[in-house]
Amino acid sequence: LRVLERLEDLRRWRAGAAEPLGFVPTMGYLHEGHLALIDRARAECATVVVSIFVNPLQVGPGEDFDRYPRDRQRDLEHCRQHQVDAVWLPQASEMYPPGFSTFVEVRGLDERLCGRFRPGHFRGVATVVAKLFHQVQPQRAYFGEKDYQQLLIIRRMVRDLDMPIDIVACPTVREPDGLARSSRNAYLTPEERRHAARLPAALRHGLQLIEEGERDPRRVVAAVEGELAAQVGWQPQYVEILDAHELTPLDRLRGEVVLAAAVYVGQTRLIDNVRIVVP
Ligand code: AMP
Repeated sequence: LRVLERLEDLRRWRAGAAEPLGFVPTMGYLHEGHLALIDRARAECATVVVSIFVNPLQVGPGEDFDRYPRDRQRDLEHCRQHQVDAVWLPQASEMYPPGFSTFVEVRGLDERLCGRFRPGHFRGVATVVAKLFHQVQPQRAYFGEKDYQQLLIIRRMVRDLDMPIDIVACPTVREPDGLARSSRNAYLTPEERRHAARLPAALRHGLQLIEEGERDPRRVVAAVEGELAAQVGWQPQYVEILDAHELTPLDRLRGEVVLAAAVYVGQTRLIDNVRIVVP
């Protein structure tokens, strides 16, 4: 496992790396969700690079940049065990030198869901991922459906800016009780953790209504909102059901749709989503 901390070292190493090169960008504190992406890359690519970078540009004021969980040694151990070839650990000072002033904005897709509540978040994500892509120069990059809006935004960026990279989507990895794996689950108190799977359960209930024939998006949203609001100590931020490709609202459900929610469980913001093709 090569551990690379300077762009110069990454570039030198990259020049001799076998292709296709698969890339898994992360913010670290690796869990089974990340490892599924890494294993998929390992199975499909000659070389696998994982980046670990808690990106200050995508974390808003009052969000959790300072307390975001970090464990470098454990992350490197996971990477070793999963046959990663190189870990890229950019320094914030090299990523954003003084006077940094170039940003990538993917318009439209950032207007709903998390984009409404985290201004500048997806601009920060698109900018750092564009930079990481230029640095690492992968043929394939692996992203989780857990962050569905992010996945669509990266796909659109790659298309719009002619980046020769295949974006590979990987299904959400869940805990046995259904809670989506997330580094932020570490913030939950044991009591909060016990009830956290009510979020995916509420989304599944929404899916069930659609499967039973409901075609009015407002009724599906109201049912999911009702379940989330019924949990003590929870503050739902949004529940939305949108076209799964354009993230636009629908009058009646048809085609592939995504049902997504964000909720504060105490101090911890959890997101999740499910998709369904409506006949
Ligand atoms: P993060 O470290 O949270 O920025 O996530 C890095 C990558 O791992 C992103 O592409 C995420 O969508 C993906 N990821 C995070 N959690 C999961 C999960 N539970 N299942 C699948 N992919 C995930």
